[in-house]
Amino acid sequence: MEINLVSDTVTKPTPEMLEFMFKADVGDDVYKQDPTVNTLQRMVANIFGMEDALFFPSGTMANQAAIKLHTQPGEQLIADKYAHVFNYEGGGVSFNSGVSCSLLDGDRGMINARQVESAINPPDFYHAPLTSLVCVENTTNKGGGACYDIAELQKIRQVCDNHNLKFHLDGARIWNALVAKRENPRLYGETFHTISVCLSKGLGAPIGSLLISDKETIEKALRVRKILGGGMRQVGYMAAAGIYALQHHVGRLAEDHRRAKELAYILSQKSWVHKVEAVETNILIFTISPRISEAGFLDKLRQKNIQISSMGQGKLRIVTHLDYREVMHSYVVETLQKLEL
Ligand SMILES: *Cc1c(COP(=O)(O)O)cnc(C)c1O
Repeated sequence: MEINLVSDTVTKPTPEMLEFMFKADVGDDVYKQDPTVNTLQRMVANIFGMEDALFFPSGTMANQAAIKLHTQPGEQLIADKYAHVFNYEGGGVSFNSGVSCSLLDGDRGMINARQVESAINPPDFYHAPLTSLVCVENTTNKGGGACYDIAELQKIRQVCDNHNLKFHLDGARIWNALVAKRENPRLYGETFHTISVCLSKGLGAPIGSLLISDKETIEKALRVRKILGGGMRQVGYMAAAGIYALQHHVGRLAEDHRRAKELAYILSQKSWVHKVEAVETNILIFTISPRISEAGFLDKLRQKNIQISSMGQGKLRIVTHLDYREVMHSYVVETLQKLEL
């Protein structure tokens, strides 16, 4: 039994999902003739109460398209220092949009309205880049799966409106936030100009993301997606996986959250653990005691068929997901409980 807790992207389609994919009705999506893609786009737009949505091969491309739509070269966006758009999209912000980032020192990857307000460059001060966009992440990835308070996001939106800025949500794991906080996704639709969501993380689809917005913005996004090479043909097979995932794999995210919290509790009891960060969803970040070698620790777990990842600077990460089942969880719990270093 190999247990991979490196990321929630390691899941494989379930037999039921595969069967649903096989049966998909498909067409050429570049001609907008793939009925399954069209269904998924309508379905996701509806969930958030927004006008339209566009299917993308990756979350990175959906975020990059949003940034391109909301900015002009030379301008600046505001984000947390841990933001995926800054750290993990290959420098695409500058490559694709010619934009710089003003990074804020948030709390576990979350920024607040006051910080945003103070990071906006005055538009008449022409020496500084023009601020045009604010990006937030929910849940936060590098911030350890933390969830925003929707009220704070609404306050940030107010700041954006006051200063004529666009507001983008990187919602790669928005499903986890919605389940953890029992929130109505329509509140998010009202708060943001654009939202990107992933189907290939907690929901367990093999690929797929969507960008959600108003009709006019999605029409423009279609061209940007084409430029980035993201126009795909009979991609309804992949969209079907997303439809299946939305229908069957959202509610169960609560199990991933429970397991991550249980692992956090066990780790917090161990003498060889230095610190365990608060767990709200399916990501658990902890540091081991400085007397223990990180490489040695990872190796020891690997010998017991458990893989977790290092985030550098002594931080380790565990991510629970669809393919991490109860039998595996019992085994990991027992292994960690017995582990003496
Ligand atoms: C995974 C992720 C993305 C998109 O990643 P892709 O691998 O390109 O699909 C975007 N934002 C966050 C916060 C993520 O965790």
